[in-house]
Amino acid sequence: MKLLALADEVVESLYSPLILKRCADVELVLSCGDLPYYYLEYVVSMLNVPLFYVHGNHDTVEYTYTGAVRSEPGGGTNVHGRVVVYRGFAVAGLEGSIRYRPWGEYQYTDSEMWANALWLAPALLRYRVVAGRPIDVLLTHAPPFMVHDGRDPSHVGFKAFLWLMRVFKPRLLVHGHRHVYNPFEVTVTQYESTTVINAYPYKLLDTNAEGVVISC
Ligand SMILES: [Zn+2]
Repeated sequence: MKLLALADEVVESLYSPLILKRCADVELVLSCGDLPYYYLEYVVSMLNVPLFYVHGNHDTVEYTYTGAVRSEPGGGTNVHGRVVVYRGFAVAGLEGSIRYRPWGEYQYTDSEMWANALWLAPALLRYRVVAGRPIDVLLTHAPPFMVHDGRDPSHVGFKAFLWLMRVFKPRLLVHGHRHVYNPFEVTVTQYESTTVINAYPYKLLDTNAEGVVISC
């Protein structure tokens, strides 16, 4: 499957007709959150492919030109807390970041994310039994604990993601939330059977090959 993974920042060259040239063979768009809904809608309208997404901690409502309020990108599939399969390619999701304020949507304490992971676990197990293999992508907003995460209170990753990778062995974990400005910062890490990828601000992934091929 050829994937376009997006996270955290609008990429001007993708938010333009140039996307047709750069991403012509993309079959599925994955959004890790913290992106405007109009951007996601533009991307999938231009590419004419499905969108699977999770929310990030900065996601909020948007207003249309008619004044209507909306809290989801039109035409996308929210994969938080479930497994969704497209042409045999299985994606599960967990939204949000670590809670760093007492208020705010799409923020979870470590215990709350453990609860989300345990909620998702039966679906992962069911898919593995029925399909005879692990899911392809665990799509998250936040990174796993100590893998691409930060030590400041808002960027610490989740321990529950490490457990999910050890037990359910998704082929990829694709996340955002950590903005990378240093070209030497590591954005791809192997954790047991899973390749962990920071998608910020976008990555092109080809999972048809032996290993995943990553470009941007
Ligand atoms: Zn974030």
